[in-house]
Amino acid sequence: GREPGPGVAPRSRLAVVSGPSGVGKSSVVAELRRLHPDIYFSVSVTTRRPRPGEVDGAHYHFVDRAEFARMAGSGELLEHAEYAGNCYGTPRGPVEVALAAGRPAVLEIELQGARQVRLAMPEALLVMLVPPSWDALVSRLTGRGTEDPEVVARRLAVAKDELAAEAEFDAVVVNADVPTAAKELLTLVLPDPSNQECT
Ligand code: 5GP
Repeated sequence: GREPGPGVAPRSRLAVVSGPSGVGKSSVVAELRRLHPDIYFSVSVTTRRPRPGEVDGAHYHFVDRAEFARMAGSGELLEHAEYAGNCYGTPRGPVEVALAAGRPAVLEIELQGARQVRLAMPEALLVMLVPPSWDALVSRLTGRGTEDPEVVARRLAVAKDELAAEAEFDAVVVNADVPTAAKELLTLVLPDPSNQECT
């Protein structure tokens, strides 16, 4: 991907990880968390119902439509979008607290949200996670088995559009295997000391 050249200040510490549903964003981000516990990982708000094993406050803050609308309306969300019939958004406060404390912050969000972050914070680093092939994405989405076929079909249609937006991103990481993708992501999220300005 594109990276700052010598003498260019490193990108801010806000990194957005995007990419189609089924590409393995959650696994890669979980591995990133294991590699670097000091990174702040945003917990999104969603109106989607919890999947088996998902914990409120850990995987998402699960809220109803009225509460989501209230949060969006009162400016509590850094970005928000509707995806496959549900609302998703990033609580603004915790991200600002982390960045103010000098912690890198990572958002795992879909394309419309990534675009909003780009507009609101042009210095954010946008990373797109892509599958090694289209077939790999189809089998991962089908194999998850937690969604009905109609939902899978909707997500595949959205995935096509998401992959087409690759050029809007600062870097593209191929998720062929999770540990490798996570290591690559870590080098992007942490500013490279060799790019530091001589202050
Ligand atoms: P899932 O329902 O599979 O957990 O997530 C569906 C999509 O919503 C994924 O692409 C995920 O990255 C995205 N997503 C999760 N949280 C947020 C958020 O806070 N904002 C936006 N814009 N997308 C999100």
